[in-house]
Amino acid sequence: MIKNLFTILVLSVFINSCNSKKNLDSEFSDPIYKFGINIDTLLIHNDTISFGQSLSQILSDFSISNLILDKLSKQSRNTEFDLRLLKADSPYSVIYTNDTLNNPHAKFFIYEINKVDFIVYDLVQLNFYKDKKEVDTRIIYDAGIIQKGSSFFLSGAEVGMSDRLCEIISDEIYCWTLDFRQVQPGDKFKVIYEANYINKEFVGVGKVLAVYFSHLNNDFYAFPYNDRGFDDYFDNDGKNLRKFFLKTPVKNSRISSKFSKKRFHPVQKRWKSHKGTDYAAPRGTPIWSTADGIVIVSKYNKYNGNYVKIRHNNVYTTQYLHMNKIAKGIKNGVRVKQGQVIGYVGSTGLATGPHVCYRFWKHGKQVDPFRVKLPPSDPISQKSKIGFNNIKDSLKNILDSITFNNIEN
Ligand SMILES: [Zn+2]
Repeated sequence: MIKNLFTILVLSVFINSCNSKKNLDSEFSDPIYKFGINIDTLLIHNDTISFGQSLSQILSDFSISNLILDKLSKQSRNTEFDLRLLKADSPYSVIYTNDTLNNPHAKFFIYEINKVDFIVYDLVQLNFYKDKKEVDTRIIYDAGIIQKGSSFFLSGAEVGMSDRLCEIISDEIYCWTLDFRQVQPGDKFKVIYEANYINKEFVGVGKVLAVYFSHLNNDFYAFPYNDRGFDDYFDNDGKNLRKFFLKTPVKNSRISSKFSKKRFHPVQKRWKSHKGTDYAAPRGTPIWSTADGIVIVSKYNKYNGNYVKIRHNNVYTTQYLHMNKIAKGIKNGVRVKQGQVIGYVGSTGLATGPHVCYRFWKHGKQVDPFRVKLPPSDPISQKSKIGFNNIKDSLKNILDSITFNNIEN
């Protein structure tokens, strides 16, 4: 748990300066390690597994007997080290020595599972184990302003934010609060996050430590805190960003028709009320339940097409129409979680194009979910209040001091 960001920043500068000094003093005496193996007297060959290539083919030039490979493959069979699991396009390394006749002899085969984790197959001891590369975590600040015709993802990319970081912000932190399809030119964002590096190469986003989003001049802060055994994001006042209902039932959608008392029906060609919100999205886009609940209807009729109705508690019920297909297992009486996929966008029933018609009941009456007050989830607990406020205040100070100067033009 992070107690004070300043301490960490100061500490990391201190460590860096120690390292560089050490390197200068002992440049020629430090042993060199690769994949946790001292390779001072060894050679290394790096490559990528090609399609259909087996370990015996990979090692064919490294004087390894079939007997050894046989033993290794038998020992690893049906474990996470199974040699049949080696995937094409994965990087590998062979660590070897040359004998007096200059023939290479393999000592280790290293298979990289991803950018961080790898497996070492020791070809001498005939064993294998998993290990991790040393990850250098840095704390990064980014800030941007959404320009006309741009999106949050594009604006984020322009200031060096990865897609994954933008996804965490839009789909995991603010999914109850903001609909990122509706961002406006002039909306602003700032973020403080951990970025992981291996040998100076960016390998992924760590924890997002603080976010500020300004939408139509309203401020939305988000700070993670472990209040109930997991990290939830809270706003500046300690209110939970998680809500009982998700903002939308589909990702990457646009509202094609709002809830209204009167509209001209595109198929029936007459004026009638539209007691739902239509989200246009490509056919097959997953539709998720906006809250935990129990499926009470899952069937087809000629108006609604394939549709699902979910009862969330004794106050709220939601319904999702015109599905191309209802998701597997979504049947009457089945319990669903918030965000669980219940079907896929289509145009079955009375519909002109692929969309989901989202309907919402409160106390048995159909209402516009954007106009009624919806239940929040619990704010920061009394016991966590002081701890949360301490961290939040220091992070907010940093966020507020980040300027847009470098990007405003
Ligand atoms: Zn509709």
